[in-house]
Amino acid sequence: MKVGRYDYEGQIDDWPTLLAAIERVLRGGDYVLGEDVASFERELAQFLEVPHTLGTNSGTDALILAHRTAGLGKGARVVTQANTFHATAAAIHLVGAELVLVDADPHSFTMDVEALQALDGNKLDAIVPVHLYGRPCDMDAITAFAESHSLCVIEDAAQAIGARYRGRRAGSLGDFGCISFHPSKNLAAAGDGGAISFRNGTKVAHANALRSLGQVAQNDHQFVGYNSKLDTIQALVLRVKLKQLDSWNADRRRIASAYTERLAGLPMRFQSAPEHIEHVYHLFQIRVERRDELHRTLQAAGIDAVVRYPVPIHLQPAFADCNFRPGQFPVSEALSRELLALPIRPGMPDDEIDFVADQCRTFFGTTAD
Ligand SMILES: *Cc1c(COP(=O)(O)O)cnc(C)c1O
Repeated sequence: MKVGRYDYEGQIDDWPTLLAAIERVLRGGDYVLGEDVASFERELAQFLEVPHTLGTNSGTDALILAHRTAGLGKGARVVTQANTFHATAAAIHLVGAELVLVDADPHSFTMDVEALQALDGNKLDAIVPVHLYGRPCDMDAITAFAESHSLCVIEDAAQAIGARYRGRRAGSLGDFGCISFHPSKNLAAAGDGGAISFRNGTKVAHANALRSLGQVAQNDHQFVGYNSKLDTIQALVLRVKLKQLDSWNADRRRIASAYTERLAGLPMRFQSAPEHIEHVYHLFQIRVERRDELHRTLQAAGIDAVVRYPVPIHLQPAFADCNFRPGQFPVSEALSRELLALPIRPGMPDDEIDFVADQCRTFFGTTAD
């Protein structure tokens, strides 16, 4: 049996209608920030329960533009978690800000809020909580810390579109939310794409100019900006899929709870998800000591399990100039050695879940009861 992580074919119900819309755009030439992008930005804002969103080239660009919109650049100090995906830290570095890291929490696998609270808030400018694997960070503590020190909050919601924290959407909890539509994410474009969500509508015009080379009107460049816009074809694909995202995310939760049930009793731990959090399981992570061995065993059985991420930010060569050291963030280092993502995709049938769980049980020498 093969157990895969994606089913792109199954994400579109009505191919002829989508293909006809794509053909219309191809023939018409409204390729970049076309009418469908404007419609998608409105629909996404409605979905995220925010006043406004803007489409960008990628989730990485959404992060860069959010930092620039917030005025974060040289001289600013921005804190994120050491176990995030590379792009979070790269965006902070690329705008010229100083990258500050805190460790991950061993249960939530997201930002350790006690480590955050131990920092001198007066020496910080912004926090980038990463809702890693689809689980929102502990935003009560993060928001309280941000408010007491007047810090900007930029949510990296690239893996968590649709998730909720105390009923509110990930991406609507900070000053800015950054979303990715990379094909691997829960809402997948047909290529790269991203978006910024705004809690405060007054920042939208500036961000809009930033994504268009600083243009405020045709040929009127008020500052040096970026060229980072969403393509119309991507918006067509995303508009169709956005309608199904909540039901897909609910299905991811069904699969996650089936895994949790079938894997109970094995020497492994799962990412915590308390009642007030609606996890969207971008990845279903298990924490196991014999990770690499189990990974090889599952792969040999045709199961597309993956390691996300094997090297924490502070140990990556790209950030060598930041003077981090091995051992500085022990939880992130342990997670980089022990996390394994099992396949999860909407529509995944029970027999595939059972097969994965049985392979894990066999590996640990216990059979299902
Ligand atoms: C995917 C991802 C990004 C970057 O998004 P891209 O669209 O690939 O540029 C940023 N942060 C996290 C946590 C991600 O998973």
